[in-house]
Amino acid sequence: MTYVFPPHPQPSLPVAGSEARFPVRRIFCVGRNYADHAREMGAADQASGLEPPFFFMKPGDAVIGGEGEISVSYPPITKNLHHEVEMVVALGAGGANVTVDAAKGLIFGYAVGFDLTRRDIQGKAKEKGHPWDMGKGFDQSAVCSEIHPVSAVDHPATGHIWLKVNGEIRQDGDLVDMGWKVADIIANLSTMVRLEAGDLIYTGTPAGVGPIVQGDLLTAGVDGVGTLTARVV
Ligand code: MN
Repeated sequence: MTYVFPPHPQPSLPVAGSEARFPVRRIFCVGRNYADHAREMGAADQASGLEPPFFFMKPGDAVIGGEGEISVSYPPITKNLHHEVEMVVALGAGGANVTVDAAKGLIFGYAVGFDLTRRDIQGKAKEKGHPWDMGKGFDQSAVCSEIHPVSAVDHPATGHIWLKVNGEIRQDGDLVDMGWKVADIIANLSTMVRLEAGDLIYTGTPAGVGPIVQGDLLTAGVDGVGTLTARVV
């Protein structure tokens, strides 16, 4: 078996307390999963908890992260890059049509992530009914902390989820306010695609999203999971 050029390296993230890394496959993201964020985006009626969750994706190699201060390049074609802090679910097993009761059995661990968004590009796509991909799925758009195994953090359902820019609090929510809970998200998503080990799921952001510029320092955390620090360069 040969290739016409060398295959790209496997994207991966460190695992807390382990030498082994977590190989990243696909990146799924839930839209408008906190009512207060849906309202700030002008979509209150879609956060009632009655609407099914909706998903968008980032390429697996859009992931960047790990421990310490992550350097993230300010992306091209935007003048309005936004932070969205989210709890990330990392799957260690796959399945299709997974029941809500079985969903947590697929989870390897949890992490803190930034769903970086070119808000101006996303806004234009929304206006025209175009796909969100170029607003959401650009290089280095999926910032992620090291993965914390379930054996260390269990399955967090409550706890502060927060983000500061240059030390100033911008997002301050609680996991308990997620519209669709982690098990429901996995069960729903698994009806549409067969989930696989290595898939990451960004579970949505609370209110307070806003612009970031070169030089900004982002510090964030999900209480009971971990923290994430990134510098925009
Ligand atoms: Mn998001």
